[in-house]
Amino acid sequence: MNLANIVRTSRVPFAPVYQSASIDGLCCPACGTQQENDLQSLQPCKHLACVYDQEACEFTFQSQNFKQRLMSSNIVITDELDAYGLANMGYGDELLALDLTRAGSWSHELFAFDFNAD
Ligand SMILES: [Zn+2]
Repeated sequence: MNLANIVRTSRVPFAPVYQSASIDGLCCPACGTQQENDLQSLQPCKHLACVYDQEACEFTFQSQNFKQRLMSSNIVITDELDAYGLANMGYGDELLALDLTRAGSWSHELFAFDFNAD
């Protein structure tokens, strides 16, 4: 076996998460900041790269860095956003994607946190 032929592909960790109680909101896994206030309106910390509504297939939040990556990658997202799409934007294991389903809701949203955000 020739080890030189092994191509190292970037992998974005992707985790489906079911949230039984929405009252606690979602906290950033990097800094612990709560991402939503009591009214479920978004209060993003610096690590939050994007929020993507998987049912409506649209972004509800994009960080500046994420916007730039999306524009320069020429990727058009017309379906659910997955780890493959994020890897195509140049993300690797510094990003953690949480596909969040809320209790009592059919929809789910992807929250992606960039641990290298400064
Ligand atoms: Zn954070």
